[in-house]
Amino acid sequence: MIIILKKGASATEVENLKALLESKNITPHVSEGHLEKIIGCVGDIAHLDPGVIEAMDCVDTVRRIQEPYKAANRKFHPEDTVVDCSGVKIGGGAFSVIAGPCSVESEEQIVAIAKSVKASGATMLRGGAFKPRTSPYAFQGMGAEGIKLLQLAKKETGLPIVTELMDFKDIELFNDVDVIQIGARNMQNFNLLKEVGSYTTKPILLKRGMSATLQELLMSAEYLMASGNPNVILCERGIRTFETALRNTLDLGVVTLLHKLSHLPVVIDPSHAAGHSWMVDSISVAAAAIGADGLIIEVHNDPPHAKCDGAQSQTPEMFAKTVSRVMRVRAALAE
Ligand code: PEP
Ligand code: MN
Repeated sequence: MIIILKKGASATEVENLKALLESKNITPHVSEGHLEKIIGCVGDIAHLDPGVIEAMDCVDTVRRIQEPYKAANRKFHPEDTVVDCSGVKIGGGAFSVIAGPCSVESEEQIVAIAKSVKASGATMLRGGAFKPRTSPYAFQGMGAEGIKLLQLAKKETGLPIVTELMDFKDIELFNDVDVIQIGARNMQNFNLLKEVGSYTTKPILLKRGMSATLQELLMSAEYLMASGNPNVILCERGIRTFETALRNTLDLGVVTLLHKLSHLPVVIDPSHAAGHSWMVDSISVAAAAIGADGLIIEVHNDPPHAKCDGAQSQTPEMFAKTVSRVMRVRAALAE
């Protein structure tokens, strides 16, 4: 349910209304937009009579939200959410390029890649320390050591770091991580979402599950938000379909639809969508053109020898060209 307040609603009236809602175990979220001030209500509204609320002097209208996601719903929060990732903003017109290897492999590798992607215009550094691999025999990531190396690369470049958390038992290792990634395979690990959402308000990059609907993606964002973390970045990385020529099937139309349904920023991952490095450039340009709030791109300084996802990793040279083309598209659209 959302409560749209009258223009002249006083601070005391709003406080009294919030107190009334809280007394009924409803959490009020006040959102002040350019046009109107609204209160989004999260909780069981079965015992709340909308007529009683609507009769209050400060209230203009009361509307039900039909969708099962409330906090993530644009009706609940009409303005775009801008997520602050240790100073790098994303959403509401702020565009961010996250780049780096699939996995951290050594100090030399991560520091060299961090320096080169920064020089090309990346605003954040990615790199997996804990890797969700299909095969138990494949490289599983460097773990805690990988996070230390990311921190070192951050010290060298100033780039905030983005890395995946697979298991809540490792959360303390993430205290100096700027953005926590929840991967496609864990999008519906509801316990992990609840634990992370209640532990931290640090930005979360939530990747779409490989067979998840958009509503399921938004419901997973809702888990994080309902647990107390409003700083969610949605990430589309393609889904599994009958098509096998590309690693995943990426429908860029989801950017437009997610922006209509939700106020959360939407980032595109062209690397896991395509599975081929030569396709990453054109998909990135298209993603920028359709209005994505950012990109997360895999870049490796020696793709043939990468321990993970070498085939889809751009070289630093390819990445530099992509960033320049993406920025030109954004500049052209801003004219
Ligand atoms: C990754 O970002 O390296 C990754 C494993 O992504 P996804 O969860 O989208 O497969
Ligand atoms: Mn990868």
